[in-house]
Amino acid sequence: MPHIYQPFQRTLLHSVSCTGIGLHTGLPITMTLCPAPEDFGVRFVRTDVKGDNPEILAHYLNVAGTQLGTNILNDDKVQVGTIEHLMAALWGCDIDNCLIEINGPEVPIMDGSSEPFVFLIECAGVKRQNLTRKVVEVLKAVTVEENGARASITPSDSFQVSLEIDFASKAIARQTYDFDVRKLSFKGDLSAARTFGFAHEVEHLQKMGLARGGSLDNAIVVKDDQVLNEGGLRFSDEFVRHKVLDCIGDVYLAGSHIQGHISGYRSGHGMNNKLLRALFADSSAWRERRLSAE
Ligand SMILES: [Zn+2]
Repeated sequence: MPHIYQPFQRTLLHSVSCTGIGLHTGLPITMTLCPAPEDFGVRFVRTDVKGDNPEILAHYLNVAGTQLGTNILNDDKVQVGTIEHLMAALWGCDIDNCLIEINGPEVPIMDGSSEPFVFLIECAGVKRQNLTRKVVEVLKAVTVEENGARASITPSDSFQVSLEIDFASKAIARQTYDFDVRKLSFKGDLSAARTFGFAHEVEHLQKMGLARGGSLDNAIVVKDDQVLNEGGLRFSDEFVRHKVLDCIGDVYLAGSHIQGHISGYRSGHGMNNKLLRALFADSSAWRERRLSAE
């Protein structure tokens, strides 16, 4: 089987920081991405939390909520939220190992896409490590369904994500996108696609004290059949591209790179997590191997 990824693990060359507001708290949060050793994975450390265990491993079994983004929690109930756009950027920049120091409960939303994180990682530089990567190879189809949404993963010799969304609003309507890591680039084709929401939902969330940081600066806001953002869309199919970006970030919580083809219909963070749990629950559906160095 040809290598679908660079065989060697990678980390950052230097640490790099950014400050931005949290989507849900509306408060400024500072985050530093730091180099980490081989087989470390991606871990968050809450620098504002006192106690023995401020570290949270970015892993699908630590996902505790998926209502407004993907949130992870450790055994001491220390959490970090809205990690998916950063996880997607780490995947897209080929970063296996990274320690993330963060002084608040959620990753800054930045502009609602992965682009600022890709920029940050490129500023830090990338370092090749000596150990090779682990890959989870999908051996048979696994499907999950819930409330008219569906997600499945099937064997492939690449990493592919094919999604379909279907909204009543004419601003979004039906959109499909097929991402194949062999043919498209995360940075050029997906990283700039922003998250989106409906004006009535944003108002409702803000009345409940949520999404306090949400604005036209960090999301596409749709009202009825119109996009409210002055500059319009970055891609005509920006909505579905963002869903693919979210899916990549969510499945990077597998703890290894996945070799398989994910398909989704109206799927989101909850279904992405359900799919990983269903895949790993069936030991005949996958196998993990370490890539060879050649
Ligand atoms: Zn998103």
